[in-house]
Amino acid sequence: MAFIAPIPSEPIIPTSYMIRFTILKCMSCGSLARASEFMAVSYLKSRALGTPVKHMTACTKPEYDLPVERLFAGQRTLPYCAECPETDLSHLPLPPSAAGLYDLSEPTLKGLARKPAAAKAPQPRKPTIEDLA
Ligand SMILES: [Zn+2]
Repeated sequence: MAFIAPIPSEPIIPTSYMIRFTILKCMSCGSLARASEFMAVSYLKSRALGTPVKHMTACTKPEYDLPVERLFAGQRTLPYCAECPETDLSHLPLPPSAAGLYDLSEPTLKGLARKPAAAKAPQPRKPTIEDLA
């Protein structure tokens, strides 16, 4: 696991931009679509080794004249897509029970099991000067 320093509060000046794209293939209708993300690339110093760690953030508007790299990030498959004429799941079974509203589990910190709150024992009353009389 890489340890990187906290992201500085001042704006990070990117060193380049990247167009990261994937091909989405629909397993139902077979259509192919390309999905692109425009990213700002910068480098942060690793806290442990001081080595640069590539940092990419989504960028809605480039602000500088910098190189733009294109990266093909592979193909992904989807069971259905927006081009599908219909989405028929009737060949699948119904869910075992009706969907409901579920409680979130109690949060736990990594490595610390949450202990149930112990019942507070009554605090002994502080002695006062009247107790000595
Ligand atoms: Zn489709």
